[in-house]
Amino acid sequence: MEDDEEYVEIDIKKIITKLLDDLKLEYHIKGEQLNGCCPFHDDKHPSFGINFETGLYNCFSCEAHGDIASFLSKMECIPRSEALEKLGFPRMSADYRYTLKDYAEEKNLSVETLKHYRLSSSEQGIEIPYYDESMRYLGRRFRHAPNHEPRFSWEKGSTTTLYGTWFCNNASDKYVVLVEGESDCHCAWTNEIVALGVPRCYQLQKRIC
Ligand SMILES: [Zn+2]
Repeated sequence: MEDDEEYVEIDIKKIITKLLDDLKLEYHIKGEQLNGCCPFHDDKHPSFGINFETGLYNCFSCEAHGDIASFLSKMECIPRSEALEKLGFPRMSADYRYTLKDYAEEKNLSVETLKHYRLSSSEQGIEIPYYDESMRYLGRRFRHAPNHEPRFSWEKGSTTTLYGTWFCNNASDKYVVLVEGESDCHCAWTNEIVALGVPRCYQLQKRIC
């Protein structure tokens, strides 16, 4: 590890349970998973869940979802950049540019591999192109800087499909793993696992989640 490497340790369990306790919301914890009543809507039946390991939360009822920074920003009505600072991340300037290198470090992948998956850096963050199985361009999704809200957006006029159909169209593949979003695909592909990603808006559109 390099001396100047920034590493922020976040006690997600402590943060979440404190916020839920303050709101007197019921929950139970099993291993790294907490399930309970959702803090974002008037929840009669527990429909909220958060995983302490990934920091990702999801409500099956009101469809609130995101990472720990988005949770904090929503709970405390503060901008995402402020939530990140509260979590201990260093302040990012407004003109901070999120690049392939940042994404590669975040996901422990190589920039070369990401380029092979046709990702690129741009003014808006990183660009993730979508193609159909015959490599016809359908549009692209932007993954913005961590302090940018929203974290993801679509290029205007994009058509969505499962992510990676162009990459996994080998008829000899016996099975395909369905994962959530593009980054899980990038990690799976790197480990030679055939995977297709379901982008969030596609999940909502098709009601398959
Ligand atoms: Zn909810």
